[in-house]
Amino acid sequence: MERIQVIRGMRDIFPEQARWWRRMESQLAAFLDLYGYGEIRTPLIEQTGLFKRSIGEQTDIVEKEMYTFTDRDGASLTLRPEGTASVIRSYIETSLWQTEPVSRLFYLGPMFRHERPQKGRYRQFSQLGVELIGAAQPAADVEMIDIMVNGMAAIGLIDTSLELNSMGCPLCRPAYREKLITYLEEHAENLCQDCRRRMKTNPLRVLDCKVEGCKQIAGQAPRMLDSLCTECAEHFALVRRGIESIEIPYNLNHRMVRGLDYYSRTTFELLAPGLGSQNAVAGGGRYDGLVEHLGGPSIPAVGFAAGLDRILLRLLETIANPQRQQPVFVVSRGEQAWLSGLGVLRALRSAGISAESDARQGSMKAQMKRADKAGARFVILLGEDEIERGVLTIKDMAAAADSPDKQFEIQTGNVVEELVSRLAADATREAPQ
Ligand code: AMP
Repeated sequence: MERIQVIRGMRDIFPEQARWWRRMESQLAAFLDLYGYGEIRTPLIEQTGLFKRSIGEQTDIVEKEMYTFTDRDGASLTLRPEGTASVIRSYIETSLWQTEPVSRLFYLGPMFRHERPQKGRYRQFSQLGVELIGAAQPAADVEMIDIMVNGMAAIGLIDTSLELNSMGCPLCRPAYREKLITYLEEHAENLCQDCRRRMKTNPLRVLDCKVEGCKQIAGQAPRMLDSLCTECAEHFALVRRGIESIEIPYNLNHRMVRGLDYYSRTTFELLAPGLGSQNAVAGGGRYDGLVEHLGGPSIPAVGFAAGLDRILLRLLETIANPQRQQPVFVVSRGEQAWLSGLGVLRALRSAGISAESDARQGSMKAQMKRADKAGARFVILLGEDEIERGVLTIKDMAAAADSPDKQFEIQTGNVVEELVSRLAADATREAPQ
C-alpha cells in the first residue's frame, strides 16, 4: 500500500523537540505575565474576507500564500496566515475598549502560509504575537520593542540586532509616496517585474523587495525619515529616547516598511545571526488605522510577531537541550510482582518522580535492557520472593560495579523516601558551584 506522507513545508515535532517548544512557550508566557499581558486564543480558521481586508489584497500573503477553501456551507474560509487580524476582529466583536481602555494581549500558535519551504521557512509555523491596543503614545512603542528584544533574550536568544524605522502617518506619507514613485520611475528598467507592478499600486513595498537589483535601488531611494511631519518626527524622537534609556541598541533602517495605509509611524524588526537568509526572527509596528479599518472605532495599536521555529533553530545551535529527568524503571517477574509494581509506580509518580516500566512484560533480562535504553537512573527489581518478604531491590545504574551501593534491598514502604533522597543528592552534585 502506498504510504501517505506529511504535507510539504509541514513537520512533525517529536518528544525531544516538543520539550524545547514547551520550555520556550512557558518562558514566554511567564515573561509576558511580568508586563501584564494576558493570552488570547482565537480560532485557527477565519472568514477569508478578514485577512483580505486586514493584510491587504496587494500583498504576497493574500495574493499567493493563503490556504483558502470553501466549507460545506459554501463559505470561503482561510487558515490564519498571521494573528493580528483575528485579535482585532475579536477585540471589535466584544467591544473590549468599553471595559479596558488599554488592552495587553498575546497569542501563541500555528500560522499557515503557502510559501516556498526552506530552512527557517515553513508552510505551518508558530508565532508569538503581542498586541497593545488603545495607546498612541511613544511609551507603547517602547514597551513593545522592550518586550520583543528582552523577551527573546529571556528565552536565550541573545546577540540579536534591532532595526528601526518610522513610516509616517496619513498626513505626511502621501507626499513621500509621490517622491518615491518619481524616483522609482526613473529606475524602473532595473526593477524586478513584481516591483514594476508594485511601484504603482504599493510603492513602499519596493523598499523591502529581496531581489538584489531592487535592494540597490531602494538603498538610494528618498527616505521617509526625511519627510516626517512634525508630530511623527517628535513621536519617533521619543521612541528613540525611550529605547536608548533602557539601553537597547538599534540601527535605523529606512527600507523596513509595512506597505498598508493603516500602518503608521514606528516599524521594527529583530534579526538573529546564523539563520542565513531567513534571519528575521520578529517584526512589528504601529497600526493605528487597523481597528477602524475592520469596522471598529478609531483606536490606535502597536504589536509584533515573533517566528518561534526560527528562534528554536538558533537556540538549538547555542544552548543545551532541556533534559528529561532520568526515570526510575520498575522491572517485575510474574503477575503478583507486576501488580505490586503498579503500586510502586503510582507512589513514585505521585512524589513527582518520573517512573516507567516495560509495557511488553518480557523476561527480566529484556526488561533490564529496556531500562538501560530508557536511561534509567535507578531500577527497582520485584520478584515473587521479594513480595513475600515485603521488600524490593534497588539497582543504582550509575554506581561502580564493585560498590556496595550498586544493589541493595529495602522495605517496600520506604522506596519513595529512599529514592527522593538519592535523587536530591544527585541534583546537589550536578548543581553548578
Ligand atoms: P510576519 O508576520 O510576516 O511579519 O512575520 C513575523 C515573523 O514570523 C518573521 O520575522 C519570522 O520569524 C516568522 N515567519 C514568517 N513567515 C514564516 C514562515 N513561513 N516560516 C517560519 N517563520 C516565519
